[in-house]
Amino acid sequence: MTTSCRRCGRKLESGSLLVASVVHWSPKPAVGFFGKTVLGGVVSRGTYAGRPTQFRAARCTSCRVCLVETEQACDHWFEGGWIFPYAKLRWVSGDDVFTPTFFFPFSSRGRNGVVAETLVAPGFPLTISGTRCPARKCSHCGALEILYGDENRTKQLSA
Ligand SMILES: [Zn+2]
Ligand SMILES: [Zn+2]
Repeated sequence: MTTSCRRCGRKLESGSLLVASVVHWSPKPAVGFFGKTVLGGVVSRGTYAGRPTQFRAARCTSCRVCLVETEQACDHWFEGGWIFPYAKLRWVSGDDVFTPTFFFPFSSRGRNGVVAETLVAPGFPLTISGTRCPARKCSHCGALEILYGDENRTKQLSA
C-alpha cells in the first residue's frame, strides 16, 4: 500500500471511499453508454445502489487526491482519464465503518454517528459529461487515483 503522497511526500490519511453508484471510466472527457466501469462490486439495480460499497482508500488533503488500491503489490503505471460517478463519492476517515440510515443517499450521517464527507458531487442536472472528475488509473492493477480537488473539473487548468 502507498503510505505517502506521490506528489508532495506527506503521509496519506487512511480511510474509506463510499461508492453508491456505478462509476464509469474513460480516458477521454466523455464516455459512451457502454463505457468501462471502475470501483467494481457495487451491487445495484440499474445505476444506483441502495447502500454504498466501502473501499479502503488513502488520501492527501493538501493535494486533494484520493487513492484506492487493490490488494496486489504494484509500482503503478497510471494513465490519465476521467471517472463518471452517478452519485456522490464520500469519504470516511480512519477505520470507521459507515452504516447508512434510511435517508441515505440524502444524508451523510450514518447510524453510528459517523459522518461521511463528500469528495465528489455530481452536478445537477445529471448529464453524462457533467458528472466527470479527473482521475488516473493503473493499467496493471486497476488502482485508482481520484483528483477530487479539481474545482474546474470540466475545464483544463490554464497553468
Ligand atoms: Zn500530496
Ligand atoms: Zn498498479
